[in-house]
Amino acid sequence: MGFFTDTSVCIGCKACEVACKEWNAIPEDGLDLTGMSYDNSQGLGASTWRHVAFIEQSKPLGHAHADVDHGDVDVLALAAQGSGTPPGEAAITPTTPGTGPAGTGAADAGDGSQGAQGVEGTQEARTDGDGRGELRWLMSSDVCKHCTHAACLDVCPTGSLFRTEFGTVVVQEDICNGCGYCVPACPYGVIEQRPHDGRAFKCTMCYDRLGAGREPACAKACPTESIQFGPLDELRVRAQERVDQLREAGVNDARLYGHDPQDGVGGDGAFFLLLDEPEVYGLPPDPVVTTRDLPDMWRHAGAAALTLLGGLAAVFAAHGRDRAPARRFWR
Ligand code: SF4
Ligand code: SF4
Ligand code: SF4
Repeated sequence: MGFFTDTSVCIGCKACEVACKEWNAIPEDGLDLTGMSYDNSQGLGASTWRHVAFIEQSKPLGHAHADVDHGDVDVLALAAQGSGTPPGEAAITPTTPGTGPAGTGAADAGDGSQGAQGVEGTQEARTDGDGRGELRWLMSSDVCKHCTHAACLDVCPTGSLFRTEFGTVVVQEDICNGCGYCVPACPYGVIEQRPHDGRAFKCTMCYDRLGAGREPACAKACPTESIQFGPLDELRVRAQERVDQLREAGVNDARLYGHDPQDGVGGDGAFFLLLDEPEVYGLPPDPVVTTRDLPDMWRHAGAAALTLLGGLAAVFAAHGRDRAPARRFWR
């Protein structure tokens, strides 16, 4: 079982973050703006097991039609047409372009292609704007990847981290001794020790809820089904169909991340549909299980130990032969 997170339909509401906090009784750990975006929970951590990243980019808006120049699009002016209410009078800036006020020529063509007409009708409004260029927000709800080959689990000396019957990776807070070995072992930088406590925490994929036949709280709370929970093979098929659909619609940057069982971690139990390079979302482009070389290291260490023991045995044997005549001499 696992997650497919379709970031193309995430609206950044952060309901998943809140649901995770609430269900798992995770303590508050501060809400601070980074100065880089409107994201106020900053990243995954010991007390943030779900994190919705807001990434602001200067890239084409809306449907990102291939080979279409969106240089003339003014999103604020389009939004103003949406409700026919001048922005100054609207309580909330409307965001759905649609039938505009009389005289703007912004009527919806009925096929979702009102944009060009709307843009023409808003040239005057653009000149009154603040002059900023077009912008898009990528929103992505990140979480522990529940790796098939999980290095955090490999290095845990207490058995606090274990693989569940659902294929997920869970850390048990009552067994964790706070050694922190798992923290640098995670190739995604997910697991973290809680300050003033030392124990490591991360997403459990709501182990208690799965045991009761319920879906994880974050997936349950997501209003757009950006977070989908289910058997991984089914989710992979669905995810590929969604990528194909997006590419047909001209979103050529759509791609899957973490879905391939042949990748460096054996595939993620939580994989993603992204709209740009993984690095844009703060994800490693080619993650590798950090304990990949551990069996080889043990083999080499074993061979070195055997060689050392053999050498010592040879030295003692030779030393014994040298001492035998001396004993006879002194008798
Ligand atoms: S290695 Fe990191 S991402 Fe993978 S299961 Fe462990 S904590 Fe999660
Ligand atoms: S699966 Fe449960 S623990 Fe993991 S992020 Fe979602 S709500 Fe939190
Ligand atoms: S993943 Fe769903 S619940 Fe979370 S921010 Fe996006 S739309 Fe909201």
